[in-house]
Amino acid sequence: MTPLDLEFDRQHIWHPYTSLRQPLPVYPVAAAEGCELILADGQRLIDGMSSWWAAIHGYNHPTLNAALQQQAQRMSHVMFGGITHQPAIDLAKRLVELSPAGLNKVFFADSGSVAIEVAIKMAVQYWLSRNLPAKNRLATIRGGYHGDTFAAMSVCDPVNGMHSLFEGSLRQQLFAPRPQCPPHEAFDASALAPLEQLLAAHEHELAALILEPIVQGAGGMRFYHPEYLRGARQLCDRYNVLLIADEIATGFGRTGELFACDHSGISPDIMCLGKALTGGYLTLAAVLVADHVADTISQGPAGGTLMHGPTFMGNPLACAVACASIDLLLASPWRQRVAAIQAQLQEQLQPAKQATGVHEVRCYGAIGVIELNQPLDVAAFQRDCVAAGVWLRPFGRLLYCMPPLTISSEQLQKLTQQMVKTAFSC
Ligand SMILES: *Cc1c(COP(=O)(O)O)cnc(C)c1O
Repeated sequence: MTPLDLEFDRQHIWHPYTSLRQPLPVYPVAAAEGCELILADGQRLIDGMSSWWAAIHGYNHPTLNAALQQQAQRMSHVMFGGITHQPAIDLAKRLVELSPAGLNKVFFADSGSVAIEVAIKMAVQYWLSRNLPAKNRLATIRGGYHGDTFAAMSVCDPVNGMHSLFEGSLRQQLFAPRPQCPPHEAFDASALAPLEQLLAAHEHELAALILEPIVQGAGGMRFYHPEYLRGARQLCDRYNVLLIADEIATGFGRTGELFACDHSGISPDIMCLGKALTGGYLTLAAVLVADHVADTISQGPAGGTLMHGPTFMGNPLACAVACASIDLLLASPWRQRVAAIQAQLQEQLQPAKQATGVHEVRCYGAIGVIELNQPLDVAAFQRDCVAAGVWLRPFGRLLYCMPPLTISSEQLQKLTQQMVKTAFSC
């Protein structure tokens, strides 16, 4: 890529969460393979982000490439209205089989945020079908992130979230404090009391509780105890509130179980998947739904129609590569890999606890976080990272990594070295 292209980019193209007036530098990536991004000048960067949780197998994987090419030779896309195809059926079979018990119905959406919109719509339609139209609000826990569309924004953390600008145009939802129960400490059931109070007080108007199970991602990179999730499931049953589990970041092995809900042995009523669903190849999301929810919606108003249907619903290329990605994951020693990554992150990030600029170091599954006292200068930090041959992208005070599950211990060590070095320079 020539410098001219970069100048055009700077003047014309928005990147995620950036201003066009003072754009942060962007790095031209020409290719990617294995766990490395290859810059236009040939420099290789070890990837610590999995392109935001998605690229669990790394990049340019021959198996995934082949699945995509084979499907492209048959058909890349066809409308899903009145038509079906083998890749969608194959993927739905896998999702129904692998997901927590009872989630037997599948809606294919085109991105994580849209999956959240659909899940919320389902919850509202469920109570409409039961003739309880007042039950149309959502409860959630603080510290969450559920996407950038409007209903999704309404359940993101209202303070730390990225959407405080839109407060006036968002539905006011109900927030319980964020869970105060780290996963590796003894669980105190009183951690659930505020959530119980909220559900008890608002049962009459609540459609669903939505949360990220165990790992809260972009809303703060915090982890909570599996017992909290189990308790939340019981509270939802007690107070007649559906449970929506947002597994868009956690799905497909990242936390050490296939789905984070599996740590608690619970089944939500609705579960959203995205990000790693296609191994990071294409945008695709899925909403998995319990039979009783789907059946109730199907007996409701509007002839039982679920009122959603994106143009690119069930895209065959995306479904085919998702099937290949799931098969590849299941055939790999993913549990051992995640356990090894977790152990290495714990050991090698530990020293950062001694740094004065560090608030906390925490790890869960293949996720390592150093929470600093002050926000990092992203541009300067990324310059240092690129010079050191690694790719990391901090968010505010959070310096974190969630590498491809296929990363080698030598590659991971380069990432942790850079993180710890940065922590000591803050
Ligand atoms: C990324 C993410 C979303 C939104 O997904 P998009 O594909 O970016 O729309 C929703 N929930 C969680 C937990 C996420 O990490």
